[in-house]
Amino acid sequence: MEELKQQVIRKAQMLGLSDIRFTVAEGTLSHAGGKPVALQDVMPGARSLIVLFAAYRPVKPAPPGHMAVSPYYPASHRAYTAARALTGFLRSRSVQALHATSLPAKAAALRTGGVIGDNGFFFHPRFGSLVCIQTLLTDAPFSPDEPERGCGCLHCGRCAKACPSGAVGKIDRCLRRHLSGLVPEPLRGDVYQLLGCEKCQTACPYNRFEPEEPVSFPLEALLSGSALPQLKQLVGPNMARLMRVKAQAALYAANTGYKESLPELSKLMSSGADPAAAHAAWALSRLKSEDTP
Ligand code: SF4
Ligand code: SF4
Repeated sequence: MEELKQQVIRKAQMLGLSDIRFTVAEGTLSHAGGKPVALQDVMPGARSLIVLFAAYRPVKPAPPGHMAVSPYYPASHRAYTAARALTGFLRSRSVQALHATSLPAKAAALRTGGVIGDNGFFFHPRFGSLVCIQTLLTDAPFSPDEPERGCGCLHCGRCAKACPSGAVGKIDRCLRRHLSGLVPEPLRGDVYQLLGCEKCQTACPYNRFEPEEPVSFPLEALLSGSALPQLKQLVGPNMARLMRVKAQAALYAANTGYKESLPELSKLMSSGADPAAAHAAWALSRLKSEDTP
C-alpha cells in the first residue's frame, strides 16, 4: 500500500497540486454549524480520506482597460480537474475511489493540520489561506499522515479592516456570495477583478507572498463575450458563464472609469438580460455622471 501511496503523491505533483495529505475516513465532518456528514454515508467501506491542496498567489493590478481574473478560480479548476484525474488513477489500480464533492472541504482540511482564521478561511500551515481544497475517499487503507502544525490566527483584525463591505464575520455581505448574479447596489463599487475577491486574504500577515502578474482580459472582450472560450479553459465552464462575465465586466468598467466601454454597455443594457443589463445600466449612469459638472 505504501508504494501506491507514493504513486498517488507523484501523480498529484504531476497534476500541479501543491500538497496532498492522507487521513482516516472515520467519523463525521461539519463546518460553520452545517449538518455533520458521516464519511461512511458518503462512501460505505471507505478507509482513507485524501485532501488535495492547490495553492495560488496574490496578483498585481491589471493593465488599464483590462480586468484581472481572480487567481482563486484557475487554481480551483486545477484542483477539481486533478481530483477527478486522481480518482481515475486510483480506480485504474483496482481500488474504489470517490471524488467526494459533498464533504465540507474546510473541515476535511482541518484534519490534516492548519486553522480557520477570523476571516473564515482555512489556513494551510505553509500556503496560508490561498489554497483550494478537494477531497477524495477510497477503500485503500493508506497510512495516515501526522497533522502538520501551523500558526494560529493572530486576531489582528487586518482582514476585517481590508474588507470593503464589512463582511468579515457577516458572510451575507461578502462579495463572493453575490458574484454569480445581481450584485447588491452597495457592493457594486467594490468589484475589482473577475469572479472573486481576495482583499481580506491578501491583507493577512500569513499570506505575504510576492504578487504575480495577473491573467487579464481586455474589457471589450469580456463585455462582448469573445473572451469566453479562453475563460472556460482557465476556470471551467461552470464558472465562465456568459452573463456572469458580462455582468461583472460592466461593474468593473464603471469602477475604473473606462469610458471606451460605453457602446458595449449600451448594447448590454438594451439586451434586457439580467444581471448583465441591470449592471450595465448602473455602469452607464455612473460613467455618464462623471461628465456632469
Ligand atoms: S488578518 Fe489577522 S485576524 Fe484576519 S485571518 Fe489573518 S491573522 Fe487572523
Ligand atoms: S472576500 Fe472580499 S467581500 Fe468577502 S469578506 Fe473577504 S474582502 Fe470582504
